[in-house]
Amino acid sequence: MRLIDMHCDTISLLVQEDDVNLEKNPFGVNLRQNPFCVDLEKMKKAGSMAQFFACFINMKKFMEANDCSRLVGDDCLRMKSEVCTQAYKSALHMIDRAQKEFAENADLISLTTNYEELIRNAENGKMSAFLTVEEGGILDGNRNRLDHLYEKGVRLMTLLWNGENGIGYPNSRDAQIMNNGLKKFGFETVERMNELGMIVDVSHLSDGGFWDVVKHSEKPVVASHSNARVLCPHPRNLTDEMIRALAEKGGIAGLNLYPYFLNESGKAGIDDMVRHIEHMYYVGGEEFVALGTDFDGFDDGELEFKNIGEMNGLYEALKKRKFNDSQIEKFWSGNALRVIREVL
Ligand SMILES: [Zn+2]
Repeated sequence: MRLIDMHCDTISLLVQEDDVNLEKNPFGVNLRQNPFCVDLEKMKKAGSMAQFFACFINMKKFMEANDCSRLVGDDCLRMKSEVCTQAYKSALHMIDRAQKEFAENADLISLTTNYEELIRNAENGKMSAFLTVEEGGILDGNRNRLDHLYEKGVRLMTLLWNGENGIGYPNSRDAQIMNNGLKKFGFETVERMNELGMIVDVSHLSDGGFWDVVKHSEKPVVASHSNARVLCPHPRNLTDEMIRALAEKGGIAGLNLYPYFLNESGKAGIDDMVRHIEHMYYVGGEEFVALGTDFDGFDDGELEFKNIGEMNGLYEALKKRKFNDSQIEKFWSGNALRVIREVL
């Protein structure tokens, strides 16, 4: 079964390990085979057709490291802008690091920027890699940076992570934050991403921001790694209204395997994954469900799967339910392929 996973954080882990292990292990860790949840060998085992690799920036860490909180007025703004630039450079470094891995493993995988390339890779027996950025705050209101990321091969951007940025506000249990919509630069960013042919990702966004994106975007929008809020009431998950609105726009949502988004208890198994998929299918339809594992993006909670190589277990569980092969094929890759073809 051909698998397209719309979100993993493995590149961030590779870069972190490079920094930590420079002396202990001068060769660092690599993408071909590593102790993380995603590597090329495990992807092959899962029948991977394409993997979206996120360049994740933890802006809060950058801000704390520079102690922005003690500054006021113009000093604070100047420092914040400097921090955004550092974070932007860090994302560019991650992109280069990922490119190096793709070049070194050209027999197995290749950086991919559109539907035609993806199909060609599949015909040649190769997996495809899409680059994404998770944290639009690195743009710091600068459209040229977005254009540059596109030139570097980035084809999806998660507008923000868990903090306010120049684009909008994050998901939150605080209703005031949650109802906030996009900022002016947020609308401009969505427009420019539509023009360039970049997928707009609403995962992590406030509900208010979500509705602004859905109303404003001319292209299908994705929630690359989000589940159903009615089953697991976390603000990172999607309400039924949001699922319906995304689906009506031709968008999709990728099932997130983070245990706390699957089950409030933080202990989650195949049954929970099946429940969320069934619900998203009932509410959003057959064309709506996709996968966005979030592997290597979490290390808490308890998950029945250890890595991406075990995804076939979920496939078998879905088959035992009432889903037929053609439906599961859509969840596994068909729906993501449609969005890639329409947007990129
Ligand atoms: Zn995320």
